[in-house]
Amino acid sequence: MRYHIVTLGCAKNVADTERIARVLGEGSHHEVSEPGSADMVIVNTCGFIDASKEESVNTILELAAAKSDGQQLVVAGCLTALHGAELQAEIPQIDAVFGAEDWAGIGSYVQTLEPVRLEEPPLDIPEPARTPRPSAYLKISDGCNAPCTFCIIPKMKGKLHSTPADALVAEARLLAAGGVREIVLVAQDSTDYGRDLGLRDALPELLERLSDAVPEVPWLRIMYAYPGHVTARLAQTMARLPNVTPYIDIPLQHAAESVLRRMKRPSNKRMVRDMLDTLRQAMPDISIRTTFIVGYPGETDDEFEELLGFVREMAFDHVGCFTFSPQSESPAAHEPNPVLERVKKRRQRQLMEVAQQVSIIKNRAMVGREIDVLVESMSAGPMEGIGTDFVVGRSYRDAPEVDGLVLLRGTHAPGDFVRSRVTQSLAYDLVAEPVG
Ligand code: SF4
Repeated sequence: MRYHIVTLGCAKNVADTERIARVLGEGSHHEVSEPGSADMVIVNTCGFIDASKEESVNTILELAAAKSDGQQLVVAGCLTALHGAELQAEIPQIDAVFGAEDWAGIGSYVQTLEPVRLEEPPLDIPEPARTPRPSAYLKISDGCNAPCTFCIIPKMKGKLHSTPADALVAEARLLAAGGVREIVLVAQDSTDYGRDLGLRDALPELLERLSDAVPEVPWLRIMYAYPGHVTARLAQTMARLPNVTPYIDIPLQHAAESVLRRMKRPSNKRMVRDMLDTLRQAMPDISIRTTFIVGYPGETDDEFEELLGFVREMAFDHVGCFTFSPQSESPAAHEPNPVLERVKKRRQRQLMEVAQQVSIIKNRAMVGREIDVLVESMSAGPMEGIGTDFVVGRSYRDAPEVDGLVLLRGTHAPGDFVRSRVTQSLAYDLVAEPVG
């Protein structure tokens, strides 16, 4: 059977799509790059905030409208975990609905279709949709035990459930055998890994095992750490292991203790400062990414100013900022004193302006330094002041899809690691040339 997967949402959904493709691949089904040439189209939905719910529904409606005779339309992922039955009732073209992480269910469903539905796969198997990429996500756990008031992920994904280390080591080896040069560890809270397996602070051990298992993978990267769960032992382990990038993503969400308390997030500012100090002492060149929410109900000008001051002082390498979006399923949606949309937007703009100033200063300090660049793709065309003779890559400082890029002069292939010298800095990106 020929199938096509549409992936919406976050890195964890990308990892889930990889697992759906692996299950179907084991059943000798072929992935195609166009929904129009597929016997089955699978939509891996997102339900995190209203905008992503809307995008998921619109995508399903588009595919339903374009559905050809006999084609299957299957919907899975986070949105179906919350609203699967309603979706199927309102969009009758949907043939089957699966919750989040139900890859095996999709595999069994396809088997039920096999005898009646499908003619012999054509000899000319269309080109595989999934070209080997230099980087892949490894989802180490899903679900979450934290009580953040604005978040509905525990409702969609349930409590923390970790994948046993043996299975993760096997998956990492599979990715390495497929030519992956970077493995990005993702979860709702990567630093709570293994707690449901009776383990404490188990991420350092997992890193140790992965580092040993795939020494040929130069970059193991940690994303989605939780402020209260980043330990000194984790920092030391990251610093010691040769193929763990000195990089960490720790969504902090806010910096005013009063707002953090209302969010039911770790609200001890001293703890956050100490955690950042510990990481920077263990790895002076560490690149730290974080994310904030502005416009949380009741957020005052003073609380916002406190956040701005913190962003300036802590000088994060990369910052993401969302405006608060009330999710009817979350407690925060029912909190008093909503902040006006235009105030939220203004605060988001102000915060990103401060973060950009920090990024400009940090990037300027990179000029003249040597870095390894992981090449991801050819240039998408000329760039003003840069020309055309470059490829697009990243340094250890940049996670895929969310952080900066390195524009590397010359011709190099995706997956190449090129020792380079930074020759120019831009607001978020760098320009470099190969050395030697
Ligand atoms: S830690 Fe993250 S996933 Fe868990 S409830 Fe909080 S925001 Fe949601």
